[in-house]
Amino acid sequence: MSKYKVAIVGAGPSGFFATQALQNSQTDDLKFEIDMIERLPTPWGLVRSGVAPDHPKIKTVSKVFEKIAAEPGFRFLGNIDLGKDITIENLRDRYDAVVLATGSGLGRKLGIPGEELRGSLSAADFVPWYNGHPDYVNVDVPLDGKVAVIIGAGNVAMDCGRILAINPEELDSTDTAPHALAALHKSSIREVHIAARRGAEHAAFTAPELRDLPKLEHTDVHLNADEVAQALARASALGEPEKEVRNNLEAMRIIAENPLAGRDRSLHLQFLLAPKEIVGSERVEGITFSINRVDGEKVVDTGETLTISCQLVISAIGYTAEPLASVPEDKGKIKNIDGRVEGNMYVVGWAKRGPSGVVGTNKSDAADVIKLLIEDLNAPKNSQGIEDLLPAGHVVVDQEKWLRINASEVAAGEALGKPRLKEVSREKLLSLGEA
Ligand code: NAP
Repeated sequence: MSKYKVAIVGAGPSGFFATQALQNSQTDDLKFEIDMIERLPTPWGLVRSGVAPDHPKIKTVSKVFEKIAAEPGFRFLGNIDLGKDITIENLRDRYDAVVLATGSGLGRKLGIPGEELRGSLSAADFVPWYNGHPDYVNVDVPLDGKVAVIIGAGNVAMDCGRILAINPEELDSTDTAPHALAALHKSSIREVHIAARRGAEHAAFTAPELRDLPKLEHTDVHLNADEVAQALARASALGEPEKEVRNNLEAMRIIAENPLAGRDRSLHLQFLLAPKEIVGSERVEGITFSINRVDGEKVVDTGETLTISCQLVISAIGYTAEPLASVPEDKGKIKNIDGRVEGNMYVVGWAKRGPSGVVGTNKSDAADVIKLLIEDLNAPKNSQGIEDLLPAGHVVVDQEKWLRINASEVAAGEALGKPRLKEVSREKLLSLGEA
């Protein structure tokens, strides 16, 4: 029987699905010991710090992650930062294979003037702020203006727009981070625009997220019915539109036809607006767009512009992977061929393919990479883990400690009618882990 030690770096969905694929590949002759190394004291990656708090169903996948973590041969090693506490070389020496599941943590830049003004921020900072990621608690999110503009037409833009546009009371029974919930309760934002640079037929939103919008109880959703009809006509002129496009446009038609109730909170979906400049002297005062039009298969600039006065701009235009020392990078991803990086190093998830797909997309993606990893295995190294390399006194959060943190957060939430009350300080998380 051969027993291999595999390090998975990153405890998000792709890390857990890679673990599951290894566990499912075991036979009487082939066994894996898996160490999941995570820089936070908590696992679950974007399921904890990305998925919107008002979408709790998506978070139920964490039950699958906990089952995977309970399998024999698995160890969670939280609070270990690759690059700071250990190096990639350490891992490559000590393990038979290393799987990088480190995601895409950096927001892509718009690259337009004014992007550095106060009140202009990336969804890569705003989303972990409201979700209680310990490193983003102090992000400056000025909510004292009336109007916010979100750039991008993907589900992240939709999440950001919804969180700003709904009545914060709708978040009271969620696991929104306490500091963010308090700030949202004081927020003066009443008008939120989501601005897409292309047409409605090109939007990256998915239909279930669009279908949620007419259900908002305290927010009027504005969408021009003519714009949706024109998008359908344009898409149909090029041939039968794909199912996703048809479903999206149908969901948008329903939004556009939903009567407005004159509520004081509004969310506006706008298309064919390419961001040109964020204006303001010390902080954001507005954003100027080039107005686009669709010309056959292309989207072209009409030469006209539109300026929306606003005090907050959030760009939700995609992510890039954080560079890792000694790991080759390629256009915001870890350089790889089908998940093989080099030697005994592999990559899965957003770090491998870029920031696309839903949580479940990572399952088949990781399984494909694990097949290659198993094909490549040589004789086992029979080496140790990495704990002896850590400085004396370094606290590692193992599965037992995480289960204590989890139980404590859930109990604190229960008392308040929430699924959990997230602890946002690393020190407090570490102390919750102690018996
Ligand atoms: P996304 O779906 O790729 O959308 C990015 C958006 O940014 C696109 O509309 C894109 O427009 C736009 N964009 C890119 N560069 C731009 C620029 N310079 N100026 C203006 N607009 C620009 O990315 P995402 O929203 O970050 O989501 C990432 C993944 O997570 C997606 O697969 C998404 O479905 C998933 N996700 C799912 C959920 C859910 O299931 N509820 C929630 C959140 C995220 P173009 O199309 O014109 O390039």
